[in-house]
Amino acid sequence: MYNPVTSEVVEALRQTVGEGNVLVDDEALEPYTHDETVGLRADPEAVVKVTSAEQVSEVLKLAQRERIPVTPRGAGYGLSGGAVAVRGGIVLSTEKMNRILEIDRENLMVTVEPGVITGDIHRAVEAEGLFYPPDPASLDSCTIGGNVAEGAGGPRAVKYGITKDYVCGLEAVLPSGEIVQMGGKLVKNVTGYSLIQLLIGSEGTLAVVTKIILRLLPLPKVQVDLLVPFDKFQEAADTVSDIIAHQILPTAIEFMEQDSMLAVERLLERKVPFSDAAAHLLIQLDGNTQEAVEADMETVGELCLEHGARDVLVAQDRPTRDRLWEARRMIIESLNHESPINHMEDVVVPRAEIHRLLKGIKEIAGQHGVRIISFGHAGDGNVHINVLKDDLAEDQWEALVPVVTEEIYRQALSLGGTITGEHGIGATRRRYLPLAVDSAQIEIMRHIRAVFDPNRILNPGKIFP
Ligand SMILES: Cc1cc2nc3c(=O)[nH]c(=O)nc-3n(C[C@H](O)[C@H](O)[C@H](O)COP(=O)(O)OP(=O)(O)OC[C@H]3O[C@@H](n4cnc5c(N)ncnc54)[C@H](O)[C@@H]3O)c2cc1C
Repeated sequence: MYNPVTSEVVEALRQTVGEGNVLVDDEALEPYTHDETVGLRADPEAVVKVTSAEQVSEVLKLAQRERIPVTPRGAGYGLSGGAVAVRGGIVLSTEKMNRILEIDRENLMVTVEPGVITGDIHRAVEAEGLFYPPDPASLDSCTIGGNVAEGAGGPRAVKYGITKDYVCGLEAVLPSGEIVQMGGKLVKNVTGYSLIQLLIGSEGTLAVVTKIILRLLPLPKVQVDLLVPFDKFQEAADTVSDIIAHQILPTAIEFMEQDSMLAVERLLERKVPFSDAAAHLLIQLDGNTQEAVEADMETVGELCLEHGARDVLVAQDRPTRDRLWEARRMIIESLNHESPINHMEDVVVPRAEIHRLLKGIKEIAGQHGVRIISFGHAGDGNVHINVLKDDLAEDQWEALVPVVTEEIYRQALSLGGTITGEHGIGATRRRYLPLAVDSAQIEIMRHIRAVFDPNRILNPGKIFP
């Protein structure tokens, strides 16, 4: 169905983006053979580093003419293989499109290129007293283009929503090479179908995003974090429900099972507070006055203790807060260290169902005799579930993963949830899409894709079963 990247094509690419921006040597291609998905690799035939929408357009026109697949790529920090060139061809990297073009204080908007690291946007706008809330745990590595394409979320989703809630304008290059402008610095816009929202979460299958306009908020003046250990997960789950029932909306409510804290402890080679507790909640509160935040903190602290918390550790200054979050951000790395071969799922359920989900997961682990360690976003129902290979034989592991994966998905679906909350379908979950989405909807999605990309040159082998 696709043609190879010939030496003539390489030459044409070099003419478009410059000699140094086309990689074809095995060694140079190696970093682009994978993202952060454990166990998935595929070789691209060429990597092209673009610096403008016009260059993206030229590359896509060439790929269109020659019928060559193109896989857009930000930082390659995805967890579902979206940036992996599973059908070969060209990886189109936005890493050099990394400029923050404008921080507009009057309109509370920031305009960025897609290759800007998300954490750099945070730092740049915070220096101006402004706030871009979406905060994937990978924020110091991933790009905003990748966040848009994945519809990325993060701990602050509880109070502030996710990437899709902040994108007001996009420039994108269609697979035909046409450059289109959508939206603008507009808080409101109901002019026709929202193609912006269609592109968000489309995992690089519909268009290549080349410019993004994001809405900003004033930076909350006061932030405080609470680390709360519990002896039973049920107590932690009841606390979350009770906090919400008291109409307090924390910025974030993260949970960590004991096993995840122990893994962090082993990697860091130092004690994590209360690592013998069955579950931890990490709760962040923010606001504009010390009094308001302290009042919420007091109520939340009391609710935690009423539900059996062993203690409530409070961090108000930046270094102490960073230390509390360090353990949370180190979990994925610690689990990879613990068992380099592992399998991570990202299901989401209504937040009141989390304890039932975790109970079901424990049963699945028990039935199959494997370690499954969970952590995630208690405040929004999104749970990261890690199945560890440990010393299981290769063939047993290969046979086990699809079975356990499907059982986890069925568990989440039975509770009114779905199979991925923020990591996307990509290459790794596409065979399971029909479990979660009925055939009529998949058909509509296929039609939409065909309208954008009839020859399927853009990121083939993703999303669709
Ligand atoms: C330790 C760790 C923690 C993480 N925590 C979170 C989290 O809290 N929340 C969360 O949502 N995710 C999280 N992730 C997943 C990942 O970081 C996000 O999916 C992120 O959005 C990927 O960005 P990226 O730049 O690395 O994209 P890539 O991996 O390079 O690409 C991801 C997808 O976007 C497409 N794409 C990239 N750029 C463009 C573009 N300009 N135009 C069109 N398509 C494009 C690619 O084709 C691919 O399908 C985590 C990952 C790791 C490793």
